[in-house]
Amino acid sequence: MTVREIIKRFTFIEIFQGMALTLRKMFSHAVTIQYPKERRPIAPGFRGQHALAKDSMGKIKCVGCGLCAAICPSKCISVSTVKDRKNYEIDVLRCIYCGFCVEACPYGAIVLTENYEYSAYKKEDIYLKKPKLLSNWDKYMRGKKGDEYFRKFWRPLSEDFGTPPGQSGFKGKKQ
Ligand code: SF4
Ligand code: SF4
Repeated sequence: MTVREIIKRFTFIEIFQGMALTLRKMFSHAVTIQYPKERRPIAPGFRGQHALAKDSMGKIKCVGCGLCAAICPSKCISVSTVKDRKNYEIDVLRCIYCGFCVEACPYGAIVLTENYEYSAYKKEDIYLKKPKLLSNWDKYMRGKKGDEYFRKFWRPLSEDFGTPPGQSGFKGKKQ
């Protein structure tokens, strides 16, 4: 043990430093808030509860291709199509909010909304089925928000995939 450490130990200097810090903080502005009465603003692009997107006519965009289910690392998405009926379910308790499903979907049909307040007492309330996922779209992403979602937060966009200048390509048959 060094002389410096011995002095520290017998003078209780660290305890006094800690108490001084506590005293200083007692009279400064509180960093905690009274949730749920008070809420902090949600960061743009926050990845919360899922929603299934609707087009401008209010029709579901999902075609049931299953790409999101295939890429999901938690295997929490289940997509099935029986005749014309598409079923879409997400076991949210297993989701890690990686956003891969959003990136993989070729139709922009699934999004992660800003909703983080969905604790529940029953598992059925957290196991999201198609009607709930569609109602999440109406509740959290309707209108301009839904339109801007992909442009703001997800890259690459389809227009980013251009043909480099000078690259040879199929021009079609000459008449
Ligand atoms: S955010 Fe990730 S873990 Fe959650 S459903 Fe999508 S792909 Fe699966
Ligand atoms: S959300 Fe997208 S990727 Fe998933 S099944 Fe529907 S269309 Fe396919």
